[in-house]
Amino acid sequence: MGEPRTKISLEIPFAPASSRNGDIISPLLVDRCGVERRAQNSQSPRVRNLRLLRLAALWFLAATTVFAAFERPSDNERTGATGNLYEEPELVRELFRADADFPPIATPRRGDWLMFHREPGQTFDEYRASAAIRADEKRRVIYLLPLGEFPADDAPSLAVLREYAATFFQTEVKILPAYYPHDLEFDPRENEFTHKRQRLTRAIHGWLHARLPADALCLLAVTMDDLYPDKEWNYVFGEATFEDRVGVYSFARYDPAFFDEKRGPGWRDRALRRACKILTHETAHMFGLWHCVYFDCVLNGANSLEESDAQPLHACPVCLRKLKYALRFDPVRRYEQLREFYRAQKWFEEADWVTRQLKRVPPPAPSR
Ligand SMILES: [Zn+2]
Ligand SMILES: [Zn+2]
Repeated sequence: MGEPRTKISLEIPFAPASSRNGDIISPLLVDRCGVERRAQNSQSPRVRNLRLLRLAALWFLAATTVFAAFERPSDNERTGATGNLYEEPELVRELFRADADFPPIATPRRGDWLMFHREPGQTFDEYRASAAIRADEKRRVIYLLPLGEFPADDAPSLAVLREYAATFFQTEVKILPAYYPHDLEFDPRENEFTHKRQRLTRAIHGWLHARLPADALCLLAVTMDDLYPDKEWNYVFGEATFEDRVGVYSFARYDPAFFDEKRGPGWRDRALRRACKILTHETAHMFGLWHCVYFDCVLNGANSLEESDAQPLHACPVCLRKLKYALRFDPVRRYEQLREFYRAQKWFEEADWVTRQLKRVPPPAPSR
């Protein structure tokens, strides 16, 4: 038997109650992005056993009264999750120690992700022992492929998303020429609630996989079309396969106009933040990072856009160390470039946050 397909997918609110109920209470763990893994007491290797599962809606979960008790990690567990920091160069070591700008993850409130999903967490050592991909000489590019139109008045800027991903991951990010699918391509259907067209994520995966460039860390299609993962489900923000290193994400639902609502002031900035956050969260999953249960972090799971909006853009010390391991970047240079990006977007709170982190880096010793 081949390995099970490993997939990650985004949240699917309003999924209908169906025969898939069993998935929710199975030993398999589901996350907001559909990263699914076996429970810790499973006999199977942890990362290789990531498989497809999708997140059910909050109301659906509430209806099935599936609650997962979440025990907040202790201070020692939180500190230990970062691993042995003496393996890191002295100059950057402080950046992996939590300070006041990394609050421990809060006790989940009613409706939050951790109220419904048992998350074992993933320490740095566990991550390093996994078979997650790392950037190297041969594979070092994140590819973005626009699927369909990205009208300037409605869509997040692809150039800005590219720049953010390149800065966040400190690797080359290339935008491939857009592909404009035929109206009948990728199993389109009309959503019964929104009456908008949706395309099937799995059909897109197959198409992408045949186009995965040789130097690709991953290939991510981005689209303003709405998506669905199979006919039993209402919609999905996105879905990716860990093994195949391809994924597709939709920004359609970040625009109030999608729901025929007034856009209101600041909608464009909010949509861009959401797109930036989801792009980095999902791409980090493709590098083998699991949801973070240690600190407030861009890798926290979220049950809704509201919960996701309250989470930070930055990675906590545990996840930052994993990203550094996967991408082999200089964390000081990364923070300096992120600050420039945030300033250019007028995201001054984030820029100030980075400035405080950079102040923790000791000045280089004077050369003799
Ligand atoms: Zn996720
Ligand atoms: Zn984290």
